[in-house]
Amino acid sequence: MAKVKISPRPFSYPEGGASLHCGGVSLESLARRYGTPLYVYSADRIVERLRMFQRALAGRDHLVCYAVKANSALAILKLLAQEGAGFDIVSGGELERVLAAAPDAAGRVVFSGVGKTAAEIDLALKAGIMEFHAESEAELNLLAARARKLRVRARFALRVNPDVFAETHPYISTGLREHKFGIDIRSAVEIYRRAAGNRWLEAHGVSVHIGSQIRSALPFGAAIERVSKLVRQLQRAGIVIHTIDAGGGLGIDYHAGPFDAAARAAEYAAAIENALGGFAGRLLIEPGRFVVAQAGALLARVLYVKRNGRKTFVIVDAAMNDLIRPALYQAWHEIAPVRPRPGKTRMVDVVGPVCESGDFFARDRALGPVEPGDLVALLDAGAYGMAQSSNYNTRLRPAEVLVEGKRARLIRRRETMADLLAPEML
Ligand SMILES: *Cc1c(COP(=O)(O)O)cnc(C)c1O
Repeated sequence: MAKVKISPRPFSYPEGGASLHCGGVSLESLARRYGTPLYVYSADRIVERLRMFQRALAGRDHLVCYAVKANSALAILKLLAQEGAGFDIVSGGELERVLAAAPDAAGRVVFSGVGKTAAEIDLALKAGIMEFHAESEAELNLLAARARKLRVRARFALRVNPDVFAETHPYISTGLREHKFGIDIRSAVEIYRRAAGNRWLEAHGVSVHIGSQIRSALPFGAAIERVSKLVRQLQRAGIVIHTIDAGGGLGIDYHAGPFDAAARAAEYAAAIENALGGFAGRLLIEPGRFVVAQAGALLARVLYVKRNGRKTFVIVDAAMNDLIRPALYQAWHEIAPVRPRPGKTRMVDVVGPVCESGDFFARDRALGPVEPGDLVALLDAGAYGMAQSSNYNTRLRPAEVLVEGKRARLIRRRETMADLLAPEML
């Protein structure tokens, strides 16, 4: 049987067309209108990915809590909220974003992170979020104290550390006992038991998150098996658990090639489902990257092409401050010329203007001919792109555009020097 090839990306050269498009919109026209560097996202692709999870979990009570840190653009949060998503936040700032974009979604928020402050906890208690993911007993004590002060009960889940190894980059692996995240699963029952005596705390769930960019479903199943066992132990101890949160972390394929996203989401959901045992409560998941990464690209213009010794450098107007993944994680991003020129490919380094040798997008990459003024698209940049951007080298952060069908709209204007200088004083 012929395998159906499904492009995981919304970016393509339309039939008979010579230039790269996002859905029905030409990237050349977007660059003319909004300038470069420019982040471009496909709303359709984002919604499609969310629905893949929702469909894969349709057989049970579930909520997909999009991990805001992957891409926290207000317009994207609003889009996802309209499709019924909940949100996984890791700071008070991310909660403010959810409240600004979709105030009605406050009750669908889970709050993760190892270092929540009293002010952040208060904000979330007042907003009435679904549950806190406590990562230490000290945090649980602070949560109880703040809840008492505000005269509300705080629903919590312990984020347990299942001691499961997930093969990924060491900076984004989180599920081992030696990592800073979570609570050793072996001490969890004791902590739930102690918390049961506190009238300001309500044991609501158990959560895990084993890491990011994990392309196999197996470690997710292994982690949930351990969590299910814990939930049964808690039940025997008289502690009723309403939610199991399997975290995020499902990876994509950054390297080119067909990849069936729906099949991967279904396989992931099945691995979790099979590990849940008889759990009858609500399943939460917190995907970030899988929802937004492939929906986005960073559009840049070639400034110079120069040779140093045997190397050719293509210098573009985007840099590590706009997209840090290659510098930080040695990440690989496909680079597509927006209007490919005829001619031989050559090995080049694609770099930005920032004064760091680490400021590169690709090294020794085979790229078709490009000339100054040409546009290139760094693909799969929708997750951990703009979200990790900075103003390093006093560079203005890019504008962002959301493509909806045949239309595109600005969802964040380009920063100005006035924006940058505003908080400073002489
Ligand atoms: C980062 C993070 C996620 C999302 O991870 P992805 O790899 O983007 O899916 C989910 N949950 C928690 C607790 C996280 O820290």
